[in-house]
Amino acid sequence: MSTSTSTVSNTVVSASICTESIDLLDGCSHLEFLNRCCWIFDLDGTLTRPVHDFEQMRQALGMAPGADILATLAATPEPQHSELAAQLDQLEMHYAGLAQPADGVAMILEYLHQRGCQLGILTRNKREIALHSLQVIGVAHLFDPQWVLGRDEARPKPDPHGIEYLLDGWGAAAEQTVMVGDFRFDLEVGRAAGTATVHVTPADTEQWPELTDLHVHSLDELHRLMQK
Ligand SMILES: [Mg+2]
Repeated sequence: MSTSTSTVSNTVVSASICTESIDLLDGCSHLEFLNRCCWIFDLDGTLTRPVHDFEQMRQALGMAPGADILATLAATPEPQHSELAAQLDQLEMHYAGLAQPADGVAMILEYLHQRGCQLGILTRNKREIALHSLQVIGVAHLFDPQWVLGRDEARPKPDPHGIEYLLDGWGAAAEQTVMVGDFRFDLEVGRAAGTATVHVTPADTEQWPELTDLHVHSLDELHRLMQK
């Protein structure tokens, strides 16, 4: 039984209650945003299973535990900056090659694609590495590469620049859009841009309820809720 939570209606609702109540209530009004037509996904740990060991990456890059890797890189002067950036690219390409599809990823993306939805990716990774990961997990054909935004195409999350760029390109509004991700930045960027937010995490307890409209344990679960 699902124990996901939703806070769109300003009350934390257990999805186990919601899924049981959908038929009884003739629709779960706080989940109506699942019918939206523009979907933006984080990549690593959301469409792929988490394979990045960020602490190991920080260690390899000589950064402090818990440091924001991109912010630390940005604050590093030349010539170390270029060396560090090249090292980071290498590490990320390594992890891209190891990418494993998250449960239900092809099903949910095919479903949204067939529904005629716009699909975008907003990642702090590089676009070429993101495209490689999408290829490895077998869903690259569902994305127009111009809507796969990496850190060179948009300011990094949680800056809303990337979402604004996508909405501008699609001629869409934030109220038609959902941002899906596994980390705080993904939820913060959705909040900053005014989209609905979905947190995908196997954890039973929602970590950032103030940033999260819907908490699901997997893309499978999200896909099931969409079909209600
Ligand atoms: Mg992620």
